[in-house]
Amino acid sequence: MYEKTLVIVKPDGVQRRMVGTLISRFEKVGLKIHAMRFVQATDEQSKAHYAEHVDKPFYPSLEAYITVGPALVFVLGGTGAIAKVRQLVGDTEPASALPGTIRGDYAHQPLERGSDRFLCNLVHASANTEDAEREVALWFGPDEVLDYAMIDDMYTGL
Ligand code: UDP
Ligand code: MG
Repeated sequence: MYEKTLVIVKPDGVQRRMVGTLISRFEKVGLKIHAMRFVQATDEQSKAHYAEHVDKPFYPSLEAYITVGPALVFVLGGTGAIAKVRQLVGDTEPASALPGTIRGDYAHQPLERGSDRFLCNLVHASANTEDAEREVALWFGPDEVLDYAMIDDMYTGL
């Protein structure tokens, strides 16, 4: 089934000048870009985006991380895109993310702040259909998510 999913190159990806590299990883597997914006996230946007984590001990570190500077927020589409993007992104913990995944190949080691594990892991990707719909609607208006045909969508000559 064709799906849309929300991806963020988090501020550590921007600071490490990895935006182009990371977009390229997703483009190369054939995912389609439907929307894209460079944003300075606010504390309120962080709380809405990470609603499931707001009460967790690591949340203050997570909010500080995601709002420390601009991030690139985008919507990718493709068949089974939600699971495919999660596979490409890899495990949340940089230490256990497999080589070949974005986090396995490039992510920082976790930073320790008191008892928090502060995981700088370069990218966010929606976890499931419900999260994807909620997160796309949080970051983009309906008119900003563009549907269009790619040249390979149009090719019927095989
Ligand atoms: N996070 C953290 N410490 C933790 C768990 C999560 O700093 O112990 C951060 C990390 O940046 C992670 C984000 O919170 O990517 C969201 O956590 P989640 O478990 O949803 O991981 P994800 O969906 O990003 O793989
Ligand atoms: Mg998550």
